[in-house]
Amino acid sequence: MLIVMKHGARGAEIDEVVRVIEEMGYEGRPMPGTQRVAIGLVGNDGNVDASRLIALPGVLNVIPVTQPYKQVSREWREESTEIRLRNGTVIGGRDVVLMAGPCSVEDEEQILGVAAELKRAGATVLRGGAFKPRTSPYAFQGLGEAGLKLLAAARDATGMAVVTEALDSEGAELVAEYADIIQIGARNMQNYSLLRAAGRAGVPVLLKRGMSATLKELLLAAEYIVNEGESRVVLCERGLRSFDDHARNLLDLTVVVSVHELSHLPVIVDPSHGTGDRRKVPAMARAAVAAGADGVMTEVHPEPARALSDGAQSLTPQEFNDLVVELRAIARAIGRDLVPALE
Ligand code: PEP
Ligand code: MN
Repeated sequence: MLIVMKHGARGAEIDEVVRVIEEMGYEGRPMPGTQRVAIGLVGNDGNVDASRLIALPGVLNVIPVTQPYKQVSREWREESTEIRLRNGTVIGGRDVVLMAGPCSVEDEEQILGVAAELKRAGATVLRGGAFKPRTSPYAFQGLGEAGLKLLAAARDATGMAVVTEALDSEGAELVAEYADIIQIGARNMQNYSLLRAAGRAGVPVLLKRGMSATLKELLLAAEYIVNEGESRVVLCERGLRSFDDHARNLLDLTVVVSVHELSHLPVIVDPSHGTGDRRKVPAMARAAVAAGADGVMTEVHPEPARALSDGAQSLTPQEFNDLVVELRAIARAIGRDLVPALE
Protein backbone atom coordinates (compact mmCIF):
# COMPACT_ATOMS: atom_id res chain seq x y z
CA MET A 1 0.00 0.00 0.00
CA LEU A 2 1.16 3.53 -0.79
CA ILE A 3 0.10 6.57 1.19
CA VAL A 4 0.43 9.59 -1.11
CA MET A 5 0.95 12.89 0.72
CA LYS A 6 -0.41 16.21 -0.51
CA HIS A 7 1.95 18.50 -2.38
CA GLY A 8 3.83 20.47 0.30
CA ALA A 9 2.90 18.14 3.19
CA ARG A 10 4.91 19.05 6.28
CA GLY A 11 7.61 16.84 7.79
CA ALA A 12 5.59 16.46 10.97
CA GLU A 13 2.61 15.16 8.97
CA ILE A 14 4.83 12.58 7.25
CA ASP A 15 6.29 11.52 10.61
CA GLU A 16 2.78 11.11 12.02
CA VAL A 17 1.73 8.82 9.13
CA VAL A 18 4.86 6.69 9.70
CA ARG A 19 4.08 6.58 13.45
CA VAL A 20 0.51 5.42 12.88
CA ILE A 21 1.67 2.78 10.37
CA GLU A 22 4.09 1.46 13.01
CA GLU A 23 1.36 1.47 15.62
CA MET A 24 -0.71 -0.68 13.25
CA GLY A 25 2.17 -3.19 13.24
CA TYR A 26 3.70 -2.40 9.85
CA GLU A 27 6.65 -0.40 8.60
CA GLY A 28 6.40 2.97 6.83
CA ARG A 29 9.03 4.01 4.31
CA PRO A 30 8.87 7.64 3.09
CA MET A 31 9.88 8.00 -0.56
CA PRO A 32 10.39 11.55 -1.81
CA GLY A 33 9.14 11.97 -5.40
CA THR A 34 9.38 14.78 -7.91
CA GLN A 35 5.89 16.10 -7.07
CA ARG A 36 5.04 14.73 -3.65
CA VAL A 37 6.14 12.32 -0.95
CA ALA A 38 4.67 8.82 -0.90
CA ILE A 39 4.98 6.54 2.09
CA GLY A 40 5.25 2.83 1.35
CA LEU A 41 3.62 0.52 3.83
CA VAL A 42 5.47 -2.77 4.04
CA GLY A 43 4.99 -5.95 6.01
CA ASN A 44 1.35 -6.39 5.10
CA ASP A 45 -0.43 -9.31 3.48
CA GLY A 46 -2.92 -7.14 1.62
CA ASN A 47 -5.55 -6.71 4.34
CA VAL A 48 -4.68 -3.31 5.78
CA ASP A 49 -7.50 -1.10 7.07
CA ALA A 50 -6.70 2.18 5.33
CA SER A 51 -9.45 4.26 6.92
CA ARG A 52 -7.20 5.45 9.76
CA LEU A 53 -4.49 6.55 7.37
CA ILE A 54 -6.68 8.38 4.86
CA ALA A 55 -8.02 10.58 7.66
CA LEU A 56 -4.61 11.85 8.77
CA PRO A 57 -3.59 15.48 8.03
CA GLY A 58 -1.56 15.92 4.83
CA VAL A 59 -2.70 12.61 3.28
CA LEU A 60 -3.97 12.93 -0.30
CA ASN A 61 -4.71 9.36 -1.23
CA VAL A 62 -4.15 5.72 -0.35
CA ILE A 63 -3.30 3.37 -3.23
CA PRO A 64 -3.38 -0.39 -2.81
CA VAL A 65 -0.51 -2.30 -4.44
CA THR A 66 -2.24 -5.24 -6.04
CA GLN A 67 0.81 -7.32 -7.00
CA PRO A 68 2.28 -9.81 -4.50
CA TYR A 69 5.66 -8.13 -5.00
CA LYS A 70 5.35 -4.60 -3.66
CA GLN A 71 8.50 -2.51 -3.64
CA VAL A 72 9.77 -3.75 -7.00
CA SER A 73 6.45 -3.12 -8.75
CA ARG A 74 5.63 -0.21 -11.06
CA GLU A 75 2.63 0.48 -8.87
CA TRP A 76 5.04 1.27 -6.05
CA ARG A 77 7.39 3.39 -8.15
CA GLU A 78 6.48 4.77 -11.53
CA GLU A 79 9.91 5.97 -12.68
CA SER A 80 12.38 3.35 -13.82
CA THR A 81 15.23 2.66 -11.41
CA GLU A 82 18.60 3.88 -12.65
CA ILE A 83 21.68 2.36 -11.04
CA ARG A 84 24.87 4.38 -11.24
CA LEU A 85 28.11 2.45 -10.80
CA ARG A 86 31.37 3.96 -9.56
CA ASN A 87 32.81 4.14 -13.08
CA GLY A 88 29.85 6.23 -14.27
CA THR A 89 27.95 3.39 -16.00
CA VAL A 90 24.21 3.79 -15.53
CA ILE A 91 22.07 0.65 -15.71
CA GLY A 92 18.40 1.24 -16.49
CA GLY A 93 18.81 4.65 -18.13
CA ARG A 94 18.51 5.53 -21.80
CA ASP A 95 21.66 3.69 -22.77
CA VAL A 96 22.28 -0.04 -23.10
CA VAL A 97 25.03 -1.50 -20.88
CA LEU A 98 27.54 -4.03 -22.17
CA MET A 99 28.77 -6.55 -19.60
CA ALA A 100 31.27 -9.09 -20.86
CA GLY A 101 34.02 -11.41 -19.74
CA PRO A 102 34.92 -15.05 -19.32
CA CYS A 103 32.66 -17.53 -17.56
CA SER A 104 35.44 -18.12 -15.01
CA VAL A 105 38.45 -16.12 -13.93
CA GLU A 106 41.30 -18.50 -14.75
CA ASP A 107 44.57 -16.63 -14.28
CA GLU A 108 46.03 -13.13 -14.33
CA GLU A 109 47.00 -13.09 -17.98
CA GLN A 110 43.55 -14.29 -19.07
CA ILE A 111 41.50 -11.77 -17.10
CA LEU A 112 43.76 -8.74 -17.54
CA GLY A 113 44.20 -9.47 -21.23
CA VAL A 114 40.54 -9.96 -22.01
CA ALA A 115 39.51 -6.97 -19.87
CA ALA A 116 41.74 -4.67 -21.93
CA GLU A 117 40.19 -5.98 -25.16
CA LEU A 118 36.64 -5.71 -23.86
CA LYS A 119 37.20 -2.16 -22.73
CA ARG A 120 38.54 -1.24 -26.18
CA ALA A 121 35.46 -2.83 -27.74
CA GLY A 122 33.19 -0.69 -25.54
CA ALA A 123 32.15 -2.87 -22.58
CA THR A 124 32.08 -0.99 -19.29
CA VAL A 125 31.33 -3.89 -16.94
CA LEU A 126 33.61 -6.93 -16.63
CA ARG A 127 32.10 -10.26 -15.69
CA GLY A 128 33.96 -13.35 -14.48
CA GLY A 129 33.20 -16.06 -11.96
CA ALA A 130 35.50 -16.60 -9.00
CA PHE A 131 33.03 -18.90 -7.25
CA LYS A 132 31.46 -21.20 -9.83
CA PRO A 133 28.18 -23.09 -9.33
CA ARG A 134 29.05 -26.23 -11.30
CA THR A 135 26.64 -29.05 -11.97
CA SER A 136 29.40 -31.57 -11.23
CA PRO A 137 31.48 -31.40 -8.03
CA TYR A 138 34.46 -32.56 -10.11
CA ALA A 139 34.30 -29.60 -12.52
CA PHE A 140 36.45 -26.47 -12.03
CA GLN A 141 34.97 -24.61 -9.06
CA GLY A 142 36.70 -21.26 -9.57
CA LEU A 143 39.71 -19.57 -7.96
CA GLY A 144 37.77 -18.23 -4.97
CA GLU A 145 39.17 -15.12 -3.27
CA ALA A 146 42.26 -15.22 -5.49
CA GLY A 147 39.88 -14.78 -8.43
CA LEU A 148 38.25 -11.77 -6.75
CA LYS A 149 41.69 -10.21 -6.35
CA LEU A 150 42.39 -10.71 -10.05
CA LEU A 151 39.06 -9.08 -10.94
CA ALA A 152 39.93 -6.12 -8.71
CA ALA A 153 43.29 -5.86 -10.47
CA ALA A 154 41.50 -5.85 -13.84
CA ARG A 155 39.21 -3.10 -12.58
CA ASP A 156 42.18 -1.04 -11.41
CA ALA A 157 43.89 -1.52 -14.76
CA THR A 158 40.89 -0.70 -16.97
CA GLY A 159 38.34 1.27 -14.96
CA MET A 160 35.67 -1.32 -15.78
CA ALA A 161 33.14 -2.16 -13.09
CA VAL A 162 33.16 -5.77 -11.92
CA VAL A 163 30.25 -8.20 -11.53
CA THR A 164 30.87 -11.62 -10.02
CA GLU A 165 28.81 -14.35 -8.42
CA ALA A 166 28.38 -15.15 -4.73
CA LEU A 167 27.25 -18.67 -3.88
CA ASP A 168 26.39 -18.22 -0.21
CA SER A 169 25.87 -15.58 2.48
CA GLU A 170 29.54 -15.37 3.55
CA GLY A 171 30.46 -15.16 -0.12
CA ALA A 172 28.13 -12.17 -0.58
CA GLU A 173 30.06 -10.15 2.00
CA LEU A 174 33.38 -11.16 0.49
CA VAL A 175 32.28 -10.38 -3.07
CA ALA A 176 31.02 -6.97 -1.92
CA GLU A 177 34.55 -6.13 -0.70
CA TYR A 178 35.95 -6.57 -4.21
CA ALA A 179 33.17 -6.15 -6.76
CA ASP A 180 30.81 -3.42 -7.94
CA ILE A 181 27.87 -5.80 -8.37
CA ILE A 182 27.07 -9.13 -6.68
CA GLN A 183 25.66 -11.71 -9.07
CA ILE A 184 23.11 -14.22 -7.81
CA GLY A 185 23.08 -17.15 -10.21
CA ALA A 186 20.11 -18.96 -11.70
CA ARG A 187 20.60 -21.92 -9.37
CA ASN A 188 20.38 -19.63 -6.35
CA MET A 189 17.49 -17.38 -7.33
CA GLN A 190 15.38 -18.78 -4.52
CA ASN A 191 18.15 -19.12 -1.94
CA TYR A 192 16.46 -16.75 0.46
CA SER A 193 19.29 -16.47 3.00
CA LEU A 194 21.64 -15.55 0.15
CA LEU A 195 19.14 -13.01 -1.22
CA ARG A 196 18.90 -11.41 2.22
CA ALA A 197 22.67 -11.35 2.67
CA ALA A 198 23.12 -9.78 -0.77
CA GLY A 199 20.50 -7.17 0.12
CA ARG A 200 22.58 -6.16 3.16
CA ALA A 201 26.00 -6.20 1.50
CA GLY A 202 25.92 -2.57 0.35
CA VAL A 203 26.44 -3.03 -3.41
CA PRO A 204 24.01 -3.46 -6.32
CA VAL A 205 22.79 -6.98 -7.08
CA LEU A 206 22.40 -8.74 -10.44
CA LEU A 207 19.69 -11.36 -10.00
CA LYS A 208 19.52 -14.08 -12.63
CA ARG A 209 16.23 -15.78 -13.34
CA GLY A 210 16.07 -19.37 -12.16
CA MET A 211 16.04 -21.93 -14.94
CA SER A 212 12.40 -22.78 -14.32
CA ALA A 213 11.25 -19.71 -12.42
CA THR A 214 8.19 -17.70 -13.38
CA LEU A 215 8.47 -13.94 -13.70
CA LYS A 216 6.42 -13.61 -10.52
CA GLU A 217 8.93 -15.76 -8.65
CA LEU A 218 11.80 -13.68 -10.04
CA LEU A 219 10.16 -10.45 -8.90
CA LEU A 220 9.43 -11.90 -5.46
CA ALA A 221 13.09 -12.94 -5.20
CA ALA A 222 14.06 -9.34 -6.06
CA GLU A 223 11.61 -8.18 -3.37
CA TYR A 224 13.66 -10.09 -0.76
CA ILE A 225 16.74 -8.07 -1.72
CA VAL A 226 14.95 -4.72 -1.82
CA ASN A 227 13.24 -5.46 1.46
CA GLU A 228 16.69 -5.69 3.11
CA GLY A 229 17.36 -2.12 2.00
CA GLU A 230 19.16 -2.61 -1.34
CA SER A 231 17.07 -1.00 -4.04
CA ARG A 232 19.73 -1.33 -6.75
CA VAL A 233 18.69 -4.66 -8.28
CA VAL A 234 19.17 -5.65 -11.93
CA LEU A 235 17.17 -8.59 -13.28
CA CYS A 236 18.69 -10.94 -15.83
CA GLU A 237 17.02 -13.32 -18.26
CA ARG A 238 19.38 -16.22 -19.03
CA GLY A 239 17.13 -18.82 -20.59
CA LEU A 240 14.81 -21.46 -19.21
CA ARG A 241 14.99 -25.22 -19.21
CA SER A 242 12.59 -26.50 -21.84
CA PHE A 243 11.45 -29.69 -23.54
CA ASP A 244 13.58 -28.96 -26.57
CA ASP A 245 17.33 -29.57 -26.71
CA HIS A 246 18.09 -27.63 -29.92
CA ALA A 247 19.71 -25.00 -27.69
CA ARG A 248 21.05 -25.13 -24.11
CA ASN A 249 18.10 -23.09 -22.86
CA LEU A 250 14.97 -21.38 -24.13
CA LEU A 251 15.68 -17.64 -24.06
CA ASP A 252 12.54 -15.78 -23.02
CA LEU A 253 12.81 -12.33 -24.60
CA THR A 254 9.18 -11.44 -23.97
CA VAL A 255 10.11 -11.24 -20.30
CA VAL A 256 12.01 -8.02 -21.07
CA VAL A 257 8.78 -6.37 -22.13
CA SER A 258 6.86 -7.87 -19.21
CA VAL A 259 9.44 -6.73 -16.65
CA HIS A 260 9.29 -3.17 -17.94
CA GLU A 261 5.52 -3.27 -17.65
CA LEU A 262 5.35 -4.74 -14.16
CA SER A 263 8.50 -3.47 -12.46
CA HIS A 264 10.67 -0.36 -12.29
CA LEU A 265 13.86 -2.45 -12.11
CA PRO A 266 16.24 -2.70 -15.07
CA VAL A 267 16.44 -5.99 -16.96
CA ILE A 268 19.35 -7.37 -18.99
CA VAL A 269 19.75 -10.48 -21.12
CA ASP A 270 22.49 -13.13 -21.09
CA PRO A 271 22.46 -14.72 -24.56
CA SER A 272 25.47 -16.92 -23.71
CA HIS A 273 23.75 -19.13 -21.14
CA GLY A 274 20.53 -18.47 -23.05
CA THR A 275 21.79 -20.37 -26.09
CA GLY A 276 24.88 -22.32 -25.02
CA ASP A 277 26.37 -21.86 -28.48
CA ARG A 278 28.67 -19.05 -29.61
CA ARG A 279 27.16 -19.13 -33.13
CA LYS A 280 23.73 -18.26 -31.73
CA VAL A 281 24.88 -15.57 -29.31
CA PRO A 282 25.12 -12.54 -31.66
CA ALA A 283 21.59 -12.98 -33.06
CA MET A 284 20.08 -13.30 -29.58
CA ALA A 285 22.12 -10.35 -28.29
CA ARG A 286 20.80 -8.22 -31.17
CA ALA A 287 17.26 -9.41 -30.47
CA ALA A 288 17.64 -8.58 -26.78
CA VAL A 289 18.61 -4.98 -27.51
CA ALA A 290 15.81 -4.71 -30.06
CA ALA A 291 13.37 -5.98 -27.43
CA GLY A 292 14.37 -3.18 -25.06
CA ALA A 293 16.83 -4.87 -22.70
CA ASP A 294 18.79 -2.43 -20.54
CA GLY A 295 21.95 -4.41 -21.11
CA VAL A 296 23.50 -7.54 -22.50
CA MET A 297 25.87 -9.85 -20.64
CA THR A 298 28.01 -12.06 -22.87
CA GLU A 299 30.76 -14.53 -22.15
CA VAL A 300 34.00 -13.71 -23.95
CA HIS A 301 37.20 -15.73 -23.69
CA PRO A 302 40.57 -15.02 -25.30
CA GLU A 303 40.77 -18.68 -26.38
CA PRO A 304 37.34 -20.29 -26.06
CA ALA A 305 38.66 -23.75 -26.97
CA ARG A 306 40.82 -23.69 -23.84
CA ALA A 307 38.23 -22.22 -21.44
CA LEU A 308 37.82 -24.03 -18.13
CA SER A 309 34.05 -23.51 -18.32
CA ASP A 310 31.47 -22.60 -20.97
CA GLY A 311 33.95 -22.35 -23.85
CA ALA A 312 31.34 -23.44 -26.41
CA GLN A 313 29.20 -20.39 -25.71
CA SER A 314 32.04 -17.88 -25.33
CA LEU A 315 32.74 -15.34 -28.07
CA THR A 316 36.27 -14.42 -29.03
CA PRO A 317 37.23 -10.78 -28.35
CA GLN A 318 37.05 -10.11 -32.10
CA GLU A 319 33.54 -11.58 -32.34
CA PHE A 320 32.50 -9.43 -29.41
CA ASN A 321 33.99 -6.37 -31.03
CA ASP A 322 31.98 -7.01 -34.21
CA LEU A 323 28.83 -7.57 -32.18
CA VAL A 324 29.19 -4.23 -30.40
CA VAL A 325 29.04 -2.41 -33.75
CA GLU A 326 25.72 -4.10 -34.53
CA LEU A 327 24.31 -3.54 -31.05
CA ARG A 328 25.10 0.17 -31.28
CA ALA A 329 23.19 0.44 -34.55
CA ILE A 330 20.18 -1.37 -33.08
CA ALA A 331 20.20 0.72 -29.90
CA ARG A 332 20.25 3.91 -32.00
CA ALA A 333 17.42 2.63 -34.18
CA ILE A 334 15.17 2.52 -31.11
CA GLY A 335 16.15 5.88 -29.65
CA ARG A 336 18.82 4.59 -27.30
CA ASP A 337 22.59 4.24 -27.52
CA LEU A 338 25.27 2.16 -25.87
CA VAL A 339 26.70 3.38 -22.56
CA PRO A 340 29.75 5.41 -23.65
CA ALA A 341 33.00 3.47 -23.71
CA LEU A 342 35.51 4.20 -20.94
CA GLU A 343 38.39 6.59 -21.68
C1 PEP B 1 27.35 -17.50 -15.09
O1 PEP B 1 26.95 -16.34 -15.28
O2 PEP B 1 28.49 -17.89 -15.37
C2 PEP B 1 26.38 -18.50 -14.60
C3 PEP B 1 26.77 -19.56 -13.89
O3 PEP B 1 25.13 -18.23 -14.97
P1 PEP B 1 23.71 -18.90 -14.58
O4 PEP B 1 23.58 -18.71 -13.11
O5 PEP B 1 22.75 -18.10 -15.38
O6 PEP B 1 23.79 -20.34 -14.99
MN1 MN C 1 29.08 -19.52 -17.63
